[in-house]
Amino acid sequence: MKHTTRWFLLAAACILVTTAVRSPAAEKTPADKINVLIIDGQNNHKWQVTTPALKAMLVKTGRFSVDVVTTPDRKAPKDAWDTFRPDFGKYGVVLMNYTGSPWPAEVCAAFEKYMAAGGGLVFYHAAVFSHKRWKVWNEMMGMGWRKPADGDRLTVDAAGKVVRTPKGEGPGGGHGPAHAFEMTVRDKDHTVMKDLPAKWTHIKDELYHGMRGPAKNVHILATAFSDKKTRGTGTNEPMVWTVSAGKGRVFVSLLGHDVPATTAPGAVAVLTRGVEWAATGKVTLPVPKKVTAK
Ligand code: ZN
Repeated sequence: MKHTTRWFLLAAACILVTTAVRSPAAEKTPADKINVLIIDGQNNHKWQVTTPALKAMLVKTGRFSVDVVTTPDRKAPKDAWDTFRPDFGKYGVVLMNYTGSPWPAEVCAAFEKYMAAGGGLVFYHAAVFSHKRWKVWNEMMGMGWRKPADGDRLTVDAAGKVVRTPKGEGPGGGHGPAHAFEMTVRDKDHTVMKDLPAKWTHIKDELYHGMRGPAKNVHILATAFSDKKTRGTGTNEPMVWTVSAGKGRVFVSLLGHDVPATTAPGAVAVLTRGVEWAATGKVTLPVPKKVTAK
């Protein structure tokens, strides 16, 4: 499925509205499981098949209890959104498998409060298209599928140094044809990346490039080389990163265009551990043995 920019035509940024939410409950009973909320319902990807795959991979670890909230369709009447009021405070972490219509302002405000109180947020693949006009959201994402004019870009040079490209210069969000590519860990000491091979080969997937945004408080955990031979940028593009958002923790993984790419061993290791980290700041889940060094 090709990406389009039609989502960006949707109007209305989220504005602040007073709504109370409970403090995030990272590790609730029973059985000390982390409550995860997956949000889907609109996407330029097949969320109907990736959400069950995401849920299954999380449940299989035994560490998570997973709920799914599906938004109204993008063509739904405005009042259909009246029932979309996720109770974020019940969850240790929110996993975004959504990009589409802006949420009601009340929901945006509730989510901002949830994150300010120490919530967890995980962006999965095309979720970095979402909520282009929501300023706080862009800060939480760090970088996403945006135009060059929308923000800075971070890449990693051959020496492993992070390079910042100012807005307006260089490419915006894009990708060449899907292909298998090598993942390179950039912080082997980070609790999510610890025990992963320094490099591993990810199966056929989209290698996003030109991610843009405020790019503040971004910590790059893994990159992939975007080869010009595959219509890439000729540099190391961030694939996995964290963003510190006040007390909140944000984790981003760009892997997973389809179910096979989402459920490839390295992608599973990164996402399940990233979800646990976003909820608790710690990782107890092991790296599957199938993630073997290249
Ligand atoms: Zn995709």
